[in-house]
Amino acid sequence: MNLKGKKAVICGAGGFIGGHLVKKLLADGVEVVRAVDIKPVEEWYQSSEDVENLTMDLKEKESCYKAARGADVVVQLAADMGGMGFIENNKALCMLSVLINTHMLMAARDSGVERFFYSSSACVYNGEKQKSPEVVPLKESDAYPALPEDGYGWEKLFSERMCRHFEEDFGLECRVARFHNVYGPLGTWEGGREKAPAAICRKVLEAKHSGSRDIEIWGDGKQTRSFMYIDDCLHGIRAILESDIREPINLGSSELVTINQLVDIVEDIAGVHLKRSYKLDAPKGVNGRNSDNTKIMEYLGWEPSVRLRDGMAKTYEWIESEMLVNTRLAA
Ligand code: NAD
Repeated sequence: MNLKGKKAVICGAGGFIGGHLVKKLLADGVEVVRAVDIKPVEEWYQSSEDVENLTMDLKEKESCYKAARGADVVVQLAADMGGMGFIENNKALCMLSVLINTHMLMAARDSGVERFFYSSSACVYNGEKQKSPEVVPLKESDAYPALPEDGYGWEKLFSERMCRHFEEDFGLECRVARFHNVYGPLGTWEGGREKAPAAICRKVLEAKHSGSRDIEIWGDGKQTRSFMYIDDCLHGIRAILESDIREPINLGSSELVTINQLVDIVEDIAGVHLKRSYKLDAPKGVNGRNSDNTKIMEYLGWEPSVRLRDGMAKTYEWIESEMLVNTRLAA
């Protein structure tokens, strides 16, 4: 499928990835007919005037039918989610996103949608495979036997399977990508839902501008992760959506770092060296996680490749400008 010539609807468009996706698809000449989010449009990270921007709660079935009307393609990114601090303490809220996915799938099926993209997560992977910081990268089959992240991961795994059965039983073509930690400008950087890259940028900026020279790190800093820059994520979403990949597939960077190394990178960008303290009882997620990109390479001959240092420099710069605008930092 080529997205050009298709009418696309983006759900969760007021969020980080959704906002970027609408802009990118429009810039590439794709007809985005509608963008939907539960937040008032003024609170979206980005919005585009050429699109019908709707504020609706997609947990409600009727809202999903309104959202899907006339669409050829639905990209379903809406979810009640955040970083570890949010998902470890809000498991029921995370699981309620199943209503969004259930009702959007039903609406897509009944509205003649040709293709449905679902944003799953690396949190679906079996926790037993992520106990050591010395990770073996996670391959798609490692989601089973199922032991995903409690709450958020279970919902994602269940919704993945719903996509599979809607395809098998009702013929709705679904594409499912398992995102691994996405970061970049124009996303959440404060308030409790932010993820590690943005949180570390904010903390380093606060320490630099206040002169405190201290930083608190969640966990012992030795936990490992990979982080995918938003541009790679957008490229991957489109490529997977247009492809014939009929199974859930990893969409993540394979550049592995410890959280301490991520802090090193941000300190280097900021030109500071901070005294680290470790909050060992803070939510920190699994000990180690990386993306095995064998499959995406086989299918697409491509994998995310933006270097962490380069993506973090852009993210840092944007968060600094936001903090200055909000007078959170002395200019
Ligand atoms: P985000 O929180 O910035 O965006 C999600 C958007 O969904 C928000 O704007 C939120 O208001 C909206 N939303 C929540 N409940 C809604 C509802 N009931 N009705 C309508 N809209 C609703 O998150 P993001 O980082 O842009 O993530 C997009 C998708 O990718 C999510 O499904 C997320 O689970 C998935 N994902 C993201 C990452 C990541 O690192 N960012 C990693 C794995 C998976």
